[in-house]
Amino acid sequence: MTNIPNNIVAVEQKIAQASINAQRQDKVRLLAVSKTKPVSSIKQAFAQGLSHFGENYVQESIEKIQHIKTDSYFDRPIHWYFIGPLQSNKTRPVAENFDWVQSVDRLKIAQRLNEQRPENMPKLNICLQVNISGEESKSGTTLSQVIELASQVQDLPRLKLRGIMAIPQKSDDPKVVEQQFLALHKIYQTLQQQYPDIDTLSMGMSGDLESAIKCGSTMVRIGTDIFGSR
Ligand SMILES: *Cc1c(COP(=O)(O)O)cnc(C)c1O
Repeated sequence: MTNIPNNIVAVEQKIAQASINAQRQDKVRLLAVSKTKPVSSIKQAFAQGLSHFGENYVQESIEKIQHIKTDSYFDRPIHWYFIGPLQSNKTRPVAENFDWVQSVDRLKIAQRLNEQRPENMPKLNICLQVNISGEESKSGTTLSQVIELASQVQDLPRLKLRGIMAIPQKSDDPKVVEQQFLALHKIYQTLQQQYPDIDTLSMGMSGDLESAIKCGSTMVRIGTDIFGSR
Protein backbone atom coordinates (compact mmCIF):
# COMPACT_ATOMS: atom_id res chain seq x y z
CA MET A 1 0.00 0.00 0.00
CA THR A 2 1.24 3.44 -0.91
CA ASN A 3 1.34 5.77 2.05
CA ILE A 4 1.32 9.20 0.44
CA PRO A 5 1.89 11.29 3.62
CA ASN A 6 4.88 9.12 4.63
CA ASN A 7 6.24 9.24 1.09
CA ILE A 8 6.10 13.04 1.08
CA VAL A 9 7.96 13.26 4.38
CA ALA A 10 10.63 10.93 2.96
CA VAL A 11 10.95 12.92 -0.29
CA GLU A 12 11.21 16.20 1.63
CA GLN A 13 13.95 14.69 3.79
CA LYS A 14 15.78 13.49 0.68
CA ILE A 15 15.62 17.00 -0.81
CA ALA A 16 16.83 18.56 2.45
CA GLN A 17 19.72 16.09 2.74
CA ALA A 18 20.73 16.49 -0.91
CA SER A 19 20.67 20.28 -0.45
CA ILE A 20 22.96 20.02 2.58
CA ASN A 21 25.31 17.67 0.73
CA ALA A 22 25.47 20.11 -2.17
CA GLN A 23 25.93 23.07 0.21
CA ARG A 24 22.94 24.76 -1.33
CA GLN A 25 21.62 27.84 0.48
CA ASP A 26 18.61 28.33 -1.80
CA LYS A 27 15.41 26.35 -1.57
CA VAL A 28 14.70 23.49 -3.99
CA ARG A 29 10.99 23.42 -4.84
CA LEU A 30 8.99 20.20 -4.97
CA LEU A 31 6.51 19.59 -7.79
CA ALA A 32 4.23 16.62 -7.11
CA VAL A 33 3.54 14.84 -10.41
CA SER A 34 -0.02 13.51 -10.14
CA LYS A 35 -0.54 12.25 -13.70
CA THR A 36 -2.79 9.17 -13.91
CA LYS A 37 -3.56 9.50 -10.17
CA PRO A 38 -7.06 10.24 -8.84
CA VAL A 39 -8.24 13.36 -7.02
CA SER A 40 -8.24 11.36 -3.77
CA SER A 41 -4.45 11.02 -4.05
CA ILE A 42 -4.07 14.75 -4.74
CA LYS A 43 -6.18 15.39 -1.61
CA GLN A 44 -3.78 13.39 0.53
CA ALA A 45 -0.79 15.29 -0.84
CA PHE A 46 -2.62 18.61 -0.34
CA ALA A 47 -3.37 17.67 3.29
CA GLN A 48 0.35 17.02 3.73
CA GLY A 49 1.01 20.63 2.67
CA LEU A 50 1.73 20.36 -1.06
CA SER A 51 0.13 22.92 -3.40
CA HIS A 52 2.10 22.51 -6.64
CA PHE A 53 1.02 19.69 -8.95
CA GLY A 54 2.28 18.55 -12.36
CA GLU A 55 0.12 16.90 -15.01
CA ASN A 56 0.92 15.42 -18.43
CA TYR A 57 -2.33 14.70 -20.25
CA VAL A 58 -4.68 17.49 -21.32
CA GLN A 59 -8.06 15.84 -20.99
CA GLU A 60 -7.31 14.00 -17.75
CA SER A 61 -5.83 17.07 -16.12
CA ILE A 62 -8.62 19.48 -17.09
CA GLU A 63 -11.19 17.10 -15.60
CA LYS A 64 -9.27 16.97 -12.32
CA ILE A 65 -8.63 20.72 -12.22
CA GLN A 66 -12.31 21.54 -12.83
CA HIS A 67 -13.41 19.04 -10.21
CA ILE A 68 -10.96 20.35 -7.60
CA LYS A 69 -12.06 23.94 -8.25
CA THR A 70 -15.53 23.11 -6.95
CA ASP A 71 -14.38 20.94 -4.03
CA SER A 72 -14.32 22.90 -0.77
CA TYR A 73 -11.76 20.50 0.69
CA PHE A 74 -9.15 22.49 -1.23
CA ASP A 75 -9.05 25.64 0.89
CA ARG A 76 -5.77 27.09 -0.40
CA PRO A 77 -4.83 27.88 -3.99
CA ILE A 78 -3.37 25.02 -6.05
CA HIS A 79 -0.76 25.76 -8.70
CA TRP A 80 -1.02 23.57 -11.78
CA TYR A 81 1.95 22.78 -14.02
CA PHE A 82 1.57 21.23 -17.45
CA ILE A 83 4.70 19.12 -18.06
CA GLY A 84 3.68 16.73 -20.85
CA PRO A 85 4.02 16.87 -24.63
CA LEU A 86 1.68 19.52 -26.00
CA GLN A 87 0.12 19.47 -29.47
CA SER A 88 -0.85 22.79 -30.98
CA ASN A 89 -4.55 21.84 -31.24
CA LYS A 90 -4.68 21.29 -27.46
CA THR A 91 -3.12 24.52 -26.24
CA ARG A 92 -6.37 26.37 -25.41
CA PRO A 93 -7.51 24.36 -22.37
CA VAL A 94 -3.93 24.45 -21.09
CA ALA A 95 -3.73 28.24 -21.50
CA GLU A 96 -7.07 28.58 -19.68
CA ASN A 97 -6.47 26.21 -16.76
CA PHE A 98 -2.78 26.01 -15.87
CA ASP A 99 -0.40 28.36 -14.05
CA TRP A 100 2.74 26.97 -15.69
CA VAL A 101 3.73 25.12 -18.84
CA GLN A 102 7.17 23.54 -18.57
CA SER A 103 7.14 21.67 -21.87
CA VAL A 104 7.29 24.50 -24.42
CA ASP A 105 9.62 23.32 -27.16
CA ARG A 106 8.74 25.46 -30.16
CA LEU A 107 7.62 28.96 -31.03
CA LYS A 108 4.25 27.92 -32.46
CA ILE A 109 3.17 26.45 -29.11
CA ALA A 110 4.33 29.57 -27.26
CA GLN A 111 2.48 31.86 -29.67
CA ARG A 112 -0.76 29.93 -29.28
CA LEU A 113 -0.51 29.88 -25.48
CA ASN A 114 0.12 33.63 -25.58
CA GLU A 115 -2.92 34.30 -27.76
CA GLN A 116 -5.16 32.00 -25.74
CA ARG A 117 -4.15 33.06 -22.23
CA PRO A 118 -7.24 34.86 -20.84
CA GLU A 119 -6.76 38.58 -20.10
CA ASN A 120 -8.21 38.23 -16.60
CA MET A 121 -5.60 35.68 -15.55
CA PRO A 122 -1.98 36.32 -14.53
CA LYS A 123 0.69 35.70 -17.15
CA LEU A 124 1.34 32.04 -17.91
CA ASN A 125 4.69 30.92 -16.49
CA ILE A 126 6.86 29.16 -19.04
CA CYS A 127 9.84 26.82 -19.01
CA LEU A 128 11.46 25.79 -22.25
CA GLN A 129 11.94 22.05 -22.51
CA VAL A 130 15.47 21.23 -23.62
CA ASN A 131 16.35 17.95 -25.33
CA ILE A 132 19.71 17.59 -23.65
CA SER A 133 20.57 14.08 -24.83
CA GLY A 134 20.00 14.92 -28.50
CA GLU A 135 17.87 11.77 -28.90
CA GLU A 136 15.50 12.24 -31.79
CA SER A 137 12.69 10.46 -29.95
CA LYS A 138 12.75 12.99 -27.09
CA SER A 139 10.74 16.17 -27.20
CA GLY A 140 12.42 19.46 -26.43
CA THR A 141 14.27 22.18 -28.24
CA THR A 142 17.90 21.60 -29.15
CA LEU A 143 20.76 23.27 -27.34
CA SER A 144 21.50 25.43 -30.34
CA GLN A 145 17.91 26.72 -30.53
CA VAL A 146 17.14 27.36 -26.88
CA ILE A 147 18.67 30.85 -26.70
CA GLU A 148 16.70 32.03 -29.73
CA LEU A 149 13.46 30.48 -28.47
CA ALA A 150 13.99 32.21 -25.11
CA SER A 151 14.24 35.61 -26.78
CA GLN A 152 11.09 34.94 -28.79
CA VAL A 153 9.12 33.83 -25.71
CA GLN A 154 10.39 36.84 -23.80
CA ASP A 155 8.63 39.07 -26.36
CA LEU A 156 5.20 37.45 -25.88
CA PRO A 157 3.20 39.67 -23.49
CA ARG A 158 0.91 37.05 -21.91
CA LEU A 159 3.79 34.68 -21.08
CA LYS A 160 6.46 34.93 -18.40
CA LEU A 161 9.71 33.12 -19.07
CA ARG A 162 10.80 31.35 -15.86
CA GLY A 163 13.51 28.95 -17.01
CA ILE A 164 14.13 25.53 -18.52
CA MET A 165 13.00 21.94 -17.96
CA ALA A 166 14.55 18.68 -19.11
CA ILE A 167 14.31 14.92 -18.86
CA PRO A 168 17.80 13.46 -19.29
CA GLN A 169 18.54 10.25 -21.13
CA LYS A 170 18.44 7.37 -18.66
CA SER A 171 21.69 5.60 -17.91
CA ASP A 172 22.96 3.06 -15.41
CA ASP A 173 26.04 5.23 -15.10
CA PRO A 174 25.19 8.17 -12.81
CA LYS A 175 28.05 10.15 -14.40
CA VAL A 176 26.27 10.15 -17.76
CA VAL A 177 23.15 11.63 -16.17
CA GLU A 178 25.19 14.17 -14.18
CA GLN A 179 26.94 15.40 -17.32
CA GLN A 180 23.54 16.18 -18.80
CA PHE A 181 22.42 17.96 -15.61
CA LEU A 182 25.62 20.03 -15.59
CA ALA A 183 25.13 20.99 -19.24
CA LEU A 184 21.60 22.12 -18.39
CA HIS A 185 22.87 24.16 -15.46
CA LYS A 186 25.27 25.90 -17.82
CA ILE A 187 22.47 26.85 -20.25
CA TYR A 188 20.41 28.02 -17.29
CA GLN A 189 23.22 30.30 -16.12
CA THR A 190 23.69 31.68 -19.63
CA LEU A 191 19.98 32.49 -19.84
CA GLN A 192 20.00 34.01 -16.37
CA GLN A 193 22.67 36.49 -17.41
CA GLN A 194 20.39 37.67 -20.20
CA TYR A 195 17.11 37.42 -18.28
CA PRO A 196 17.81 38.05 -14.58
CA ASP A 197 14.17 37.27 -13.67
CA ILE A 198 14.34 33.59 -14.52
CA ASP A 199 14.49 31.38 -11.45
CA THR A 200 13.63 27.83 -12.51
CA LEU A 201 15.89 24.97 -13.49
CA SER A 202 13.37 22.12 -13.48
CA MET A 203 15.27 18.83 -13.43
CA GLY A 204 15.32 15.70 -11.30
CA MET A 205 12.66 12.98 -10.94
CA SER A 206 12.17 10.08 -8.51
CA GLY A 207 15.23 8.22 -9.78
CA ASP A 208 17.75 11.04 -9.96
CA LEU A 209 16.69 13.74 -7.49
CA GLU A 210 20.01 13.76 -5.60
CA SER A 211 22.25 14.26 -8.66
CA ALA A 212 19.88 16.91 -9.99
CA ILE A 213 20.13 18.90 -6.76
CA LYS A 214 23.90 18.45 -6.73
CA CYS A 215 23.99 19.93 -10.24
CA GLY A 216 21.87 22.98 -9.41
CA SER A 217 18.23 22.00 -9.90
CA THR A 218 15.79 24.51 -8.37
CA MET A 219 12.70 22.32 -8.84
CA VAL A 220 12.37 18.54 -8.75
CA ARG A 221 9.34 16.80 -10.30
CA ILE A 222 8.41 13.73 -8.27
CA GLY A 223 5.68 11.28 -9.21
CA THR A 224 6.45 7.66 -8.31
CA ASP A 225 8.17 8.35 -4.98
CA ILE A 226 5.07 10.26 -3.77
CA PHE A 227 2.09 8.54 -5.37
CA GLY A 228 3.46 5.05 -6.09
CA SER A 229 4.09 3.38 -9.42
CA ARG A 230 1.88 4.07 -12.42
C1 LIG B 1 6.10 11.50 -15.13
C2 LIG B 1 7.02 12.66 -15.10
C3 LIG B 1 7.75 12.99 -13.96
C4 LIG B 1 7.73 12.16 -12.68
O1 LIG B 1 8.48 11.01 -12.85
P1 LIG B 1 8.72 9.95 -11.64
O2 LIG B 1 9.87 9.16 -12.14
O3 LIG B 1 7.48 9.19 -11.50
O4 LIG B 1 9.07 10.74 -10.43
C5 LIG B 1 8.55 14.12 -14.00
N1 LIG B 1 8.63 14.89 -15.11
C6 LIG B 1 7.94 14.61 -16.23
C7 LIG B 1 8.07 15.51 -17.41
C8 LIG B 1 7.13 13.48 -16.27
O5 LIG B 1 6.46 13.21 -17.41
